[in-house]
Amino acid sequence: MKDNIRLEEHRIEQEPFYLPIGEEIKLAEAAYETGLPLLLKGPTGCGKTRFMQYLAWKLNRPLITVSCHDDLSTSDLVGRYLIRAGEAVWTDGPLTLAVRAGAICYLDEIVEARKDTTVVIHPLADDRRELPIEKRGELLVAPPEFMLAVSYNPGYQSVIKDLKPSTRQRFVALSFDYPNPEAEAEIVIKESGVSEDLATSLVKLGRMTRGLKDSGLPEGASTRLLIQAGKLIEQDI
Ligand code: ADP
Repeated sequence: MKDNIRLEEHRIEQEPFYLPIGEEIKLAEAAYETGLPLLLKGPTGCGKTRFMQYLAWKLNRPLITVSCHDDLSTSDLVGRYLIRAGEAVWTDGPLTLAVRAGAICYLDEIVEARKDTTVVIHPLADDRRELPIEKRGELLVAPPEFMLAVSYNPGYQSVIKDLKPSTRQRFVALSFDYPNPEAEAEIVIKESGVSEDLATSLVKLGRMTRGLKDSGLPEGASTRLLIQAGKLIEQDI
């Protein structure tokens, strides 16, 4: 019952606005049908998370998102025993919850997570589709409805933090990038409410800030940032 409540929060009832950039929807659906995990590559703020929300809605599965950070451990994903009223009670982590429920689990910025997490990600990401819960001596087999998706920003990471080839090869990779100018302007209009003229100017400015790594600007303005600028302009700022 409690898990049902936790899961309902992750259902996406309304179709999220997502403007397809290429064949990513078709590819992701094919991966889902074949039980293969997804790897979303691309710079920050270019639409990866929005795409996952759209996919989850389209496939009618709950979406459980985990933002990975350098302290995220296997227990944070799988679960742990908590002491409640003097008793040790097992609590599923987000990955276990997603596997049990046949949901989509999206691990955002996977390379940030602690290295020990590969112990659970690898068997889930290959044809075993298994989640070992060591502390309980349990082995969960993922139902066909379950999907694992991870994202990663190749430009961001240092060599030390790059994705291991043994991990990367398990996934169907989708490359994301900032949309073309017309599509990006359409997104900025829709998401921020600015006029077409203003959106076109914002997009032009945004594009000028990209690709300036050699001039000392490591990261240009993302689509997200242009939308935020648009929203502020709408507030007369
Ligand atoms: P990230 O790649 O960091 O996960 P997000 O998915 O959060 O980026 O994208 C940032 C914002 O940009 C979204 O909230 C959405 O408003 C907008 N966006 C980017 N690409 C698209 C797209 N193709 N269709 C609709 N909205 C998009």
